[in-house]
Amino acid sequence: MVELPAWLLGVGLVMLALPGASAVSVDGRALKKDASVLILGGGVAGVIAARTLHEQGITNFTIVEAKGELGGRLTSTTFGAKGKEVTLELGANWVQGTQTDNGPANPIWTLVQKHGLKTHENDWTGSIVTYNATGPDDYLDLFDESADAYTNLTITAGTRVDKRLVDATARTGYSLLGAKSRTPQAMASEYYQFDWEYAQTPEESSWIASSWGNNFTYNTDVGGFGDDNQMALDPRGFKHIIQAEAAEFLKPAQLRTNSTIKTIKNSDSGVSVVLESGEVLHADYALCTFSLGVLQHDDVVFEPALPDWKEEAIQSMTMATYTKVFLQFEEKFWFDTEMALYADPERGRYPVWQSLDHVNFLPGSGIVFVTTTGDYSLRIESLPDEQVQEEVLGVLAAMFPNTTIPAPVAFHFPRWNADPLFRGSYSNWPSSFFSEHHENLRANVGERLWFAGEATSQKYFGFLHGAYFEGADVATDMAKCIKAGGCVGMKHVQEVTNARPYKI
Ligand SMILES: Cc1cc2nc3c(=O)[nH]c(=O)nc-3n(C[C@H](O)[C@H](O)[C@H](O)COP(=O)(O)OP(=O)(O)OC[C@H]3O[C@@H](n4cnc5c(N)ncnc54)[C@H](O)[C@@H]3O)c2cc1C
Repeated sequence: MVELPAWLLGVGLVMLALPGASAVSVDGRALKKDASVLILGGGVAGVIAARTLHEQGITNFTIVEAKGELGGRLTSTTFGAKGKEVTLELGANWVQGTQTDNGPANPIWTLVQKHGLKTHENDWTGSIVTYNATGPDDYLDLFDESADAYTNLTITAGTRVDKRLVDATARTGYSLLGAKSRTPQAMASEYYQFDWEYAQTPEESSWIASSWGNNFTYNTDVGGFGDDNQMALDPRGFKHIIQAEAAEFLKPAQLRTNSTIKTIKNSDSGVSVVLESGEVLHADYALCTFSLGVLQHDDVVFEPALPDWKEEAIQSMTMATYTKVFLQFEEKFWFDTEMALYADPERGRYPVWQSLDHVNFLPGSGIVFVTTTGDYSLRIESLPDEQVQEEVLGVLAAMFPNTTIPAPVAFHFPRWNADPLFRGSYSNWPSSFFSEHHENLRANVGERLWFAGEATSQKYFGFLHGAYFEGADVATDMAKCIKAGGCVGMKHVQEVTNARPYKI
């Protein structure tokens, strides 16, 4: 087992060394630089970017992270009543797609294996029971039909790309395929296939981009990793893979934790970041890995303001919210399968249930959790915990009409959207978002300010592996630029226009 050094586990503030002393000029003043590259954010993208620079021989970088530890949205908590505590994943939970035979491996799966993280396969489709608002209700036939409809949705999206047809919403796609979910059971089944992955509705999602997000991850015919979903179950937390990876190359002087950035000042000759404490760090380059939600929310101020092409890209993609609501009971009284689906008359109301008190996961833990997404997640974030708990217990009472539902001994759900370090869970691609917008989201602003993170991944936006590949790819481009003594960087489109003007 890798022992992580205390400084990497967020114990105290790690001070920045002041290496090299060439000067950058910001606001016309010559300033002593603190690093060649400031990596803003220490999630998967930030850590893998740092490792990539290190591998390229560029070691004069510093990761600046607001939290007390590395990992970002790869984050866990200790949950449970006294004596029944376990580690739970509040953010990312699964390696989605691992590896098929000798095909391409999901790099997150590679890290899991390298660092010996405990995981178990989670059978999303074969180990499931179904309920409605009056109790058990076997609608697995509809569930299977819905899986077929989703597969058809992704196939027909590919045809649209081949024929250069315009994008539309995934709802348009479903409707054109004749997959019209009208009963609570059909709506819950569709939700399971779609919203539970994208954290938004088919109406809010691009038909084409949602399909390629799925295909490039799971479909081995187009380079995907395969169908396996491995659930992280390690007491050290899923974040251990990224912290252990960092421990192999990162020096204490290359990391500042507990350092919230308020302002990013960009100029032709360098970048300065102003911390909440008022301290200012200067560097030749910065790589911003903050979530799309943070960029949208103005939690960090850019000086000068980001150009219009960048701002339009940021505001045109969506930051979705995915919320796991955890309950612990003295004893298990629910289903013996891994998963359960609940069909409420209201689509998206506490629909997807998962038992952790299962031989494959955390047997004896007494824990079950339910997931909400999109607007329903925003709704519950605005409510007090007690009300959400009451609603969730009401749903359990509906699912198990012959059981007196006991009071839970522990209850918790994270408010991802309200969190100023994330402002949501992961990005989703709406049908009004063009490929050029996405290029602009990814493109550097001037020579000095670069961007990476799950949202900048065209193939894998939303996923851990998207963040990984973007950290590696953008840092590789930056390294080339730095070694060349400067570069223009990635191209962007000044204005995203229609192929043909609207007819009035
Ligand atoms: C609930 C949930 C479930 C998920 N499930 C899965 C899953 O099962 N499988 C999967 O593949 N993916 C999943 N994801 C998505 C995955 O977690 C992300 O794609 C990935 O972790 C994003 O990494 P990142 O480095 O791009 O961004 P982040 O992890 O957000 O890293 C950015 C860092 O910047 C820091 N930061 C933000 N603002 C500031 C500031 N002002 N100053 C300093 N630092 C700042 C943040 O603290 C953070 O550490 C899930 C995410 C969530 C939230």
